[in-house]
Amino acid sequence: MSLGVALFGATGSIGDSTLSVIEAYPDRFHLEVVSAHHSVDKLLNIIRRFAPKHVILTDTSQADLLLSRLPHDFKGSVAFGDIALTEAAVASEVDVVMAAIVGGAGLASTWAAVNAGKRVCLANKESLVMAGSLMMADAKRTGAMLLPIDSEHNAMFQCLPEHYRTGEPIAGLRQLILTCSGGPFRTWSGRKMAKASINDAIAHPIWSMGKKISVDSATLMNKGLELIEATHLFQVPESAIEVVIHPESTVHSMVEFTDGSILAQLGSPDMRIPIAHALGFPNRLSIDVERLSLTSLKCLNFEAVDHARFPALTLARQASDAGGDRPIVLNAANEIAVSAFLDGRISFPRITALVSECLNRLPQQPISCLEDVLMVDTLCRQAALDWMQEGT
Ligand code: NDP
Ligand code: MG
Repeated sequence: MSLGVALFGATGSIGDSTLSVIEAYPDRFHLEVVSAHHSVDKLLNIIRRFAPKHVILTDTSQADLLLSRLPHDFKGSVAFGDIALTEAAVASEVDVVMAAIVGGAGLASTWAAVNAGKRVCLANKESLVMAGSLMMADAKRTGAMLLPIDSEHNAMFQCLPEHYRTGEPIAGLRQLILTCSGGPFRTWSGRKMAKASINDAIAHPIWSMGKKISVDSATLMNKGLELIEATHLFQVPESAIEVVIHPESTVHSMVEFTDGSILAQLGSPDMRIPIAHALGFPNRLSIDVERLSLTSLKCLNFEAVDHARFPALTLARQASDAGGDRPIVLNAANEIAVSAFLDGRISFPRITALVSECLNRLPQQPISCLEDVLMVDTLCRQAALDWMQEGT
């Protein structure tokens, strides 16, 4: 039976890797839905290549452009705006949702897919950071299976027994070991980092990714978001997660058990590997990726994080520990700050400084439903914009 896939964020880096896995298995998967925000040209290429049944463009200002350029033989339907995502996420023809939109914009559709009990391949880590407790409880209630795409979480998941499902406690766990490449500034001095350009920050030494996650990897906020993501997926407190710098990015993460055993997953740094794992689970798909040659590895290095140069990880630990609305504030402030950095409006160190300022200045709000999450998110984004003006 061919599974109907809804690929949200089809025009991004994860979207691209997902399309390449799906293309290799035309009998197993078909593209029921694809979404883009404003990349009309890329979306048209996808339409020509895959003939999806349903196409969504969330940026409505581009609607006329897309409609005027649709191929004449396109037989699918087209919808516009965010609401189209949540509607598509629950459609009966959709078996699997690949949540690959970047940032908080991915929350509502991921949430809808979880509440509809779908298989959710989760790349959009921000949705779990913002609403992890609520979403994991909903997944338990609806039977939605959350499969991690983030390479580290996918690695940890692969180290667990086949019957293990995310959201359950892990039997015999001592700790999770989350590896981190260290990003482009691993060896840079604080003084040099203060002058880092946009191009410096997005030049990741190992992974080729979208701009937002590339900047997050440079501040190490990506590791902070991943730490919070792991607390929800694997039901552990942040104190049960150790972060180690591993510049080669060959060991994608590890799980340490109480008997002293440490299990690791290794592989080339290619996102098609976790994507194929999640799409095929519990079966293995064969994909054409570069094989890891153990004899040419020479050595694998592990080092501690320098928290003085990379304060983002400590902020994320504190936010995770405090819980409630703190991770929402962390994420919203970070998205505003990263976007301002990418627009050339603030310096690199100001990204983490602004996140810290928002966490310090915004009073805590109780969180009990999606509306609460969205309200804190909106408030924090506005506050971050206001305080950014003050600081510049
Ligand atoms: P990209 O920036 O490459 O792609 C983002 C996708 O989201 C694009 O399809 C984009 O559409 C769409 N999008 C952007 N803004 C909106 C919006 N407001 N509403 C709806 N759709 C929107 O990001 P990545 O593929 O790198 O990352 C996607 C997610 O996966 C992130 O959460 C990231 O943290 C996570 N991830 C990524 C990894 C990677 O290797 N890239 C690794 C692990 C996790 P358009 O192109 O039209 O703007
Ligand atoms: Mg990752």
